[in-house]
Amino acid sequence: MTLKQALSRARGILAGNNIEDAPLEAELLLKYALKISRTQLYLDLDHELSPQQEQTFWRLVERRLSGEPTAYTTTHREFYGLDFYVDPRVLIPRPESELLVEVALGLAQNHPLSTIADIGTGCGAIAISLALELPKTRIYATDISAPALEVAILNCQKHGVIDRVHLLHGDMLDPLLEPVDLIIANLPYVKESEIAGVKFEPRLALDGGSDGTERVRQLCRQAGGKLSAGGSLLLEIGRGQRGAVTALLNTLFPNGGIEVVPDLSGIDRVISLSLTASKHKVAR
Ligand code: GLN
Repeated sequence: MTLKQALSRARGILAGNNIEDAPLEAELLLKYALKISRTQLYLDLDHELSPQQEQTFWRLVERRLSGEPTAYTTTHREFYGLDFYVDPRVLIPRPESELLVEVALGLAQNHPLSTIADIGTGCGAIAISLALELPKTRIYATDISAPALEVAILNCQKHGVIDRVHLLHGDMLDPLLEPVDLIIANLPYVKESEIAGVKFEPRLALDGGSDGTERVRQLCRQAGGKLSAGGSLLLEIGRGQRGAVTALLNTLFPNGGIEVVPDLSGIDRVISLSLTASKHKVAR
């Protein structure tokens, strides 16, 4: 069997099992099985796989069919054009979370951010993407999960930002010792009742309580104490959560400006709160 045939058969099998992005997943698994780059793969599509390579590849495809995410199999995931190490200690970064990074960079263009805190950093994807784009900004990244922070350390080393991203262990904003210009967070926001089927990823990273917004609301209530005057809060949310979160923010920050940004599928994904420097008032 040639590489081309293996790719096309694997695509068909994955797609037939309702796996999204079957062509990409087949390619990632084949590259990983053969330890080759994408270029090598496409330059040599007529190359014959050895029986052993075939066996390795089909075993990986079976693992995918059993539900294991490809990113855990290959220990890699691309986010914001960067390659991150991932394993089951962390949630796999989702493409829609790149929107958080884009909105943060938009804010940074309008007024320089000297400090940013990424809350619930997981593998560090958001904090590291921002650190690379904003070399003058001091970045804090917190997580309640010590094992997740071990992964974030590996990624900070991999991307050469271990001296610029300050990793802190603790719940939400607790480990932050000073107010920051921007708090950015992709917290767990899946409803408790919807995570029963999660087999591979850490539930702690997904479980947002009974209505999904418990952790997000908790952060909103704490944010006033850790945002500098004129600071901003950027939150990723799930489908249908816009109303509850914006209502709470309006109550807590009556003078704050709120914007909601939809993702590429049109789902309200990022809520942005900007405090006005002069009238910042925290409602308790
Ligand atoms: N978007 C993720 C999912 O649907 C949820 C991420 C989160 O809870 N922060 O799996």
